[in-house]
Amino acid sequence: MDDSFFLFDCGEGTQYSLFKLQPKIVNKRLCLAVSHMHGDHVLGIPGLLLSLGLSSRTRELMVLGPRGIRGFVRDVLRYIGAMTPYAILFHEVRDGSEGEFCGVKVRVALGRHTATNYAYRLDGREKPGRFHPERAMALGVPRGPLWKRLQNGFPVTVDDKIVEPKEVVEPSTRGASIGYSGDTRPSRKLVDLFRNVDVLISEATYLDEDRGRALENLHSTASEAARLAAEAGARHLILTHFSSRYKDPLVLLEEARRIFPRVYLAREGRRFLLTPEDLLSRDEPFY
Ligand SMILES: [Zn+2]
Ligand SMILES: [Zn+2]
Repeated sequence: MDDSFFLFDCGEGTQYSLFKLQPKIVNKRLCLAVSHMHGDHVLGIPGLLLSLGLSSRTRELMVLGPRGIRGFVRDVLRYIGAMTPYAILFHEVRDGSEGEFCGVKVRVALGRHTATNYAYRLDGREKPGRFHPERAMALGVPRGPLWKRLQNGFPVTVDDKIVEPKEVVEPSTRGASIGYSGDTRPSRKLVDLFRNVDVLISEATYLDEDRGRALENLHSTASEAARLAAEAGARHLILTHFSSRYKDPLVLLEEARRIFPRVYLAREGRRFLLTPEDLLSRDEPFY
């Protein structure tokens, strides 16, 4: 979002994909948001921290996560005798936590999983529209405080003539909103957290035919993820975290699509671009 990068969870080997897809990440504003402490979500953290250090990162790194994330990261770095040349800031989240991290508004809700799991919602800031000084000049508005007033959305009067902000400033673009579930059963609380998000990234571990497993291991099925997206009024849904029992995760997509049409599969290296109008995939095929 803007110049901030958020990384949701960090499974083994994440650093390789991250550096390949975002080679400039090294000194960018970066926030790692961890949903829960299961291995497939945290075992890539040591490798990522070391790789960032070896790449000469100096900018501080923000880490959000459940209670224990701070101890885990500090202990693992101590045990392997590693020092990072950058500071690591921690914020241990709770159900209902809210705050601004890396310039983005973050809200957190407790999910329902076999470990304490937190789902995240990010809301980007509204971006003011571009100001056109040449138009202001042409309308006779002199450079100075009157420009500021127009930029702040107020009309100004010049020689008994009113100049409206829309004559010199383009409309603002609203900030994008993104939800991330971690591992969880669907719940009313998550519907509330993800209300009207542009993109919901949800786990979809199982098909409905294996719902018994989902209930036992506290995961979601693809159609449950789709129902969650529909109930929350999400614009788009990206499914991730598929059980390896399905050779081709397209079956999960098909099941979800019966309930929620704007659904896509996360795949290794696949990028999505969120524009004010819609969600675009930068990588074909887009289904
Ligand atoms: Zn888990
Ligand atoms: Zn998991």
